[in-house]
Amino acid sequence: MKRIMVGGVAIGGGAPVSVQSMTNTDTRDAEATLLQIGALREAGCAIVRVAVPDEQAALAMPSICARSHLPVVADIHFDYRLAVASAEAGAAKIRVNPGNIEREDKLREIVAACRAHAIPIRIGVNSGSVSPKLLSSMRLEDAMLESALRQIDMLDKLGFHDICLSLKATTAPMTIRVYRAARERLDIPLHVGVTEAGTETSGLIRSSVGIGSLLCDGIGDTIRVSLTADPVREVHAGKAILRACGLLHDRAQVVSCPTCGRCHMDVIGLAGRVERALESVSKPLTVAVMGCEVNGPGEARAADIGIAGGKTGAVIFCNGEIVERVSAQDAFDALMRRVMSL
Ligand code: SF4
Repeated sequence: MKRIMVGGVAIGGGAPVSVQSMTNTDTRDAEATLLQIGALREAGCAIVRVAVPDEQAALAMPSICARSHLPVVADIHFDYRLAVASAEAGAAKIRVNPGNIEREDKLREIVAACRAHAIPIRIGVNSGSVSPKLLSSMRLEDAMLESALRQIDMLDKLGFHDICLSLKATTAPMTIRVYRAARERLDIPLHVGVTEAGTETSGLIRSSVGIGSLLCDGIGDTIRVSLTADPVREVHAGKAILRACGLLHDRAQVVSCPTCGRCHMDVIGLAGRVERALESVSKPLTVAVMGCEVNGPGEARAADIGIAGGKTGAVIFCNGEIVERVSAQDAFDALMRRVMSL
């Protein structure tokens, strides 16, 4: 599969799946936008997108691009001149929506600017902005893919192949179907996401189903979790999805039992405490917190470190072996000592 470069970040061609987000500041306010880009980078964002809705926003782009520590993608709707200005301002990629920029002469201008500055284009199809002409003759998901294929064809005729594609729908099932169909036909990198996914909890669930299903199928080269929330939360969510899909091993993970009537200790409290403590532990360990001696020892043994509650305290396992018996009140400290010693 093809690879593109967005600034120094590789997308596709076997590169690690990267997490993106988008600023929600007023782009005309370069200082506020750069402050948010800094927070996103701190959270682990690899590529940031900013909206460039008008000329004033485009005027802020040289300052934003020059001072951003992340590659900046200019998000363009309707006006090709803003894409050209953003490419000249130092954007690392231009995102265009084929539903909004359909004319070939305008696309040609964007291609010329991207070629001159050696930056790629993302064809960003959204289910909410597919051309009504296409929608009049086919189902929405087919129209989304057709819209993308037509724009890819236009770019192909212009000899421009430095592209990636997104096909975001508002529901997880449609998102999954349209990306699967695209993967069967295209070998370009795919930016994966569910659009307008919702508030933090519902959006995370919808995105986890949509993005996670695709990633588990090996589809997706870069992701964004769209949340009606602070964009930093999008980055945390994106990294959590990558971890759950086994694509990111940047920190220790907790497995814990749901508890039941056999539980002998405060597993809910202990697991929460352990998870919070492990947020800053960058070792790729699995730590099991289990409530009883029935199923607990099996899980605790399978983890790198585990604890299983018993009637008179708890047992700590390390690499499958019992290494310590502790009281319930000493459980957290003893477990964390073991974690830090590995
Ligand atoms: Fe219940 Fe024990 Fe399983 Fe926890 S590990 S859910 S306490 S049986």
